[in-house]
Amino acid sequence: MTPAPVTLIGAGPGDPELLTLKAVKALRRASVALVDDLVQPGVLKFLRRSARIVHVGKRGGCVSTPQAFIHQLMIAEARRGETVVRVKGGDPFVFGRGGEEADALRAAGIAVEVVPGITSGIAAPAALGVPVTDRRHAPGVALVTGHSRDGGRGPDWAALARSGLTLVIYMGLARCAALCDELRAAGLPGDTPAALIEQGCTPRMRQHLSTLDHLAEDALRLDFAAPALIVVGDVLRLGDWLEVGTPLRTGTG
Ligand code: SAH
Repeated sequence: MTPAPVTLIGAGPGDPELLTLKAVKALRRASVALVDDLVQPGVLKFLRRSARIVHVGKRGGCVSTPQAFIHQLMIAEARRGETVVRVKGGDPFVFGRGGEEADALRAAGIAVEVVPGITSGIAAPAALGVPVTDRRHAPGVALVTGHSRDGGRGPDWAALARSGLTLVIYMGLARCAALCDELRAAGLPGDTPAALIEQGCTPRMRQHLSTLDHLAEDALRLDFAAPALIVVGDVLRLGDWLEVGTPLRTGTG
């Protein structure tokens, strides 16, 4: 018997209301769900009560499930006749290793369906009223990682600094000071608006507007923790920082 396709589901940035209808339908069909730790519990309420949930978290610094094990588990469950969904935070193909998982499944002869999700890098700024592009401020946006693969090449920060794009940096909190230094060394002024958004689109969301000069010290002082995004660029001036959560520090003051 050919195994049923495995569905890679983007669970969106946190708020279950930001799931797509397609994601909800796929969750309802599943008999086994392999779930990342960025996925909020409210999302899993759409699974059938009989569905088996396997948490395969890999949050930096915590107990993590090796990627190869996740591949093997998806393949084994699909071959056993289960209807498998792989549930990931945000969009499965934005820093979610969804591409590697799709490759592994296809190599095992298992078809893959992808349900895109709203990525945190767009949704979390939007929750604060920040459009990641705005023709008055930024001609585009770059979604980049602040944490390059061991020994691998990270983004070209100098090119990004010159680009005029809004920068949305995923997985960058631990290297916040180095990232801000690199961007300033590449020519971005120290008073360029820079912000942190922790647990965006969840009830625990915290945000802070600062500048490249001060962001790293602020992150430490205010105890920001993963999952968090760093956003850099003039579009931050458009946000409702005061209404949504009082910023503890704005500008350089
Ligand atoms: N596929 C996910 C990203 C996975 S990489 C997506 O599309 O959103 C994990 C990183 O995403 C975290 O380190 C953090 O930088 C960011 N992230 C994910 N969800 C977040 C949230 N709700 N708030 C802030 N950052 C988030």
